[in-house]
Amino acid sequence: MSELPADASRVDTAFLAVQLESVRRRVDAACVEAGRDPASVSILPVSKTFDASLIRAAVALGLHRFGENKTQEVREKAPQLADCGIAWVIIGHLQTNKAKDVARLVDEVQSLDRLELAEALHRRLQIEGRVIDVLVQVKTSPEPNKFGLAIDALPGLLDALRDYDTLRVSGLMTLATNSQNESEVRRCFATLRELREQSITRGHALPRLSMGMSGDFPLAIAEGSTEIRVGSAIFGQRSTPAAF
Ligand SMILES: *Cc1c(COP(=O)(O)O)cnc(C)c1O
Repeated sequence: MSELPADASRVDTAFLAVQLESVRRRVDAACVEAGRDPASVSILPVSKTFDASLIRAAVALGLHRFGENKTQEVREKAPQLADCGIAWVIIGHLQTNKAKDVARLVDEVQSLDRLELAEALHRRLQIEGRVIDVLVQVKTSPEPNKFGLAIDALPGLLDALRDYDTLRVSGLMTLATNSQNESEVRRCFATLRELREQSITRGHALPRLSMGMSGDFPLAIAEGSTEIRVGSAIFGQRSTPAAF
């Protein structure tokens, strides 16, 4: 490990190192179990609700991409961490009136779920002269509190997104049903994998599948996840309830 960035606490960094190592070991084990190359699954640390000093401690461990639910949090944290070279990834529901903040501060959106949002992002990204990666969030769970595009609407949205050259569509994202029932959770992940296969057949190259969180990532890896979004298993329990 190199020198700690200014004001990163050694205690926080040591804590995060242990947590991260433990997650990485479980990822590797899930890959072996699934007959997959461990290098084919990356970890997106989800820093929502955690403050800039803890993120700085994570940067000291070599992490440079962080997932956040709200652009408001990125607006608060980004200036405090401007020296860290962080790529901010939005994974939560986005209102179109946040497009300006996204275009200025965010490197990737995993929660693109409607054409209206794509249009708003495109307009603002053109102004900024930027191109960002996007994943289309698909609703694979019946839970009413989950966002995401309806499965039937995916082919149409993917076709329409070809017109937006500021958005590099590189994959799909989903949240599984919050359930102890493994087969229900797995069904959500399998659905996303199948949707990617169908999309590839229709001419859309979608290398990435963002699925799996602290509580369910081994199942997501078994179903082909290329990227898991991990918050509490790395940073600890959040004091505020998760909002999706
Ligand atoms: C909060 C959140 C996560 C991470 O959740 P943990 O259970 O803390 O790992 C992943 N994805 C999304 C969309 C989230 O909002």
